[in-house]
Amino acid sequence: MLLKTTDKSKKLLSFILSLVIVFGVMSVSAFALTDAEKQEYENKIEEIREQIKENEEKIAELEAEAATYDDEINALQEKIDVLSAQIDLYNDEIALIDADIQVIDNQITGIENEIEDLNQQIQALDEKVIEIQQEIADTYTLLGERIRVTYMTGANTSLEYLLTSDGFDFQEYLERTELIDRIAAHDDKLIKDLEDDIESLKEKVLEIEDMKTRLNSKVEELDKAKKEHEAKKQEQVDARKIIEDKEALIQADLNKVMSIVNALDSKSKEYEAAMEKGEATILDYEQKLAQQNTSFGSGQVSGDMIWPLPYDDTYVSSSFKMRTLNGVTRQHNGIDICRWAGTHGAQIVAVKEGTVETAVYSGYGGGYGLYVVIDHGEGVKTYYAHMSSVHVSVGDYVTQGTVIGLAGNTGYSFGAHLHFGLMINGGWVNPMNYLSKPASVTING
Ligand SMILES: [Zn+2]
Repeated sequence: MLLKTTDKSKKLLSFILSLVIVFGVMSVSAFALTDAEKQEYENKIEEIREQIKENEEKIAELEAEAATYDDEINALQEKIDVLSAQIDLYNDEIALIDADIQVIDNQITGIENEIEDLNQQIQALDEKVIEIQQEIADTYTLLGERIRVTYMTGANTSLEYLLTSDGFDFQEYLERTELIDRIAAHDDKLIKDLEDDIESLKEKVLEIEDMKTRLNSKVEELDKAKKEHEAKKQEQVDARKIIEDKEALIQADLNKVMSIVNALDSKSKEYEAAMEKGEATILDYEQKLAQQNTSFGSGQVSGDMIWPLPYDDTYVSSSFKMRTLNGVTRQHNGIDICRWAGTHGAQIVAVKEGTVETAVYSGYGGGYGLYVVIDHGEGVKTYYAHMSSVHVSVGDYVTQGTVIGLAGNTGYSFGAHLHFGLMINGGWVNPMNYLSKPASVTING
């Protein structure tokens, strides 16, 4: 903890808060902080500043320690990169083999479909053969039937004639046997034809079986090729595994180092967060002190400062707050004001009467570029930075609204804007709490 909030300071804060609520902006000297209370705030601010400084040192130490691991990390990462490239090559090779295997698989599937087709043809032919065989059997049955009936009826009668009477009709006997012969001959032919049919069907089946055999041997060939490809793939997978294992070991080493560095980094972040919190607290205390000084002392700043860029199209591009520029987080000690119509060359006016304390006409100005500081007395000073030209000199007494220069982009600035700072008793305060603002002003950052 950076701040030990004592019961006493809690009471003090709530006391101030109640004053603000009850009396608003009323300026009554009876509510000023006592010297002892002011001193307490100032001591606390000093305490926090020291803590912040310590934190900065600790962060620097942690960063230096983390930097000692840089070479090791780079070396490990390089090794990993080399191995990863090798793994990529194996992956490419494996992908090519997989594509070949896919082609073979497709061929096998195609041929298997053909074989299936042939099997169906064979089945159909087999069924046809059974059908014809049935037909032959039926024909035999029918023939036998007919012969028996004809013979039985005829023969019985003839035999009777022959054996028992003199009325045997030989002519009739001959006719009957001849008829039987004719029927038999006809049926014989039919059966012969059917048997021929069966023969040709069986031949066809044999042809198809032959085709199937050829296709099956083709499938075997393809299976063999596939197995060869799979063996080749396995070789690549095994080789890749060796490299992957190597990479995993190095990655583990790298992870170990990274976890050390990350621990250092998160420790740094803790310190940074504590610093930011401390700075916010300082700001809070300084504003409370400034409020007291200005409202209850002599300054009477509130409400009588005009907007430093006297146009009806201005906006605040960056407020008075913690901000991060180029990775460095710090308090923005003022507000940045711009014009929608273009800021470069816009007139900048004194927000209140006072004496020009500083007027810088060239150079970097410690980041401010060309700038002016006006001392308004009673510990109140205003800063106007990044100007393109300065129109006043040190010692000039300026009245409120006097043009003191033109806006620009000098010093540590990225685009024309007016950086306006307000210092009360040596501490920066948020100008927005003191300036009269045109109704059109918007806050954009
Ligand atoms: Zn600024």
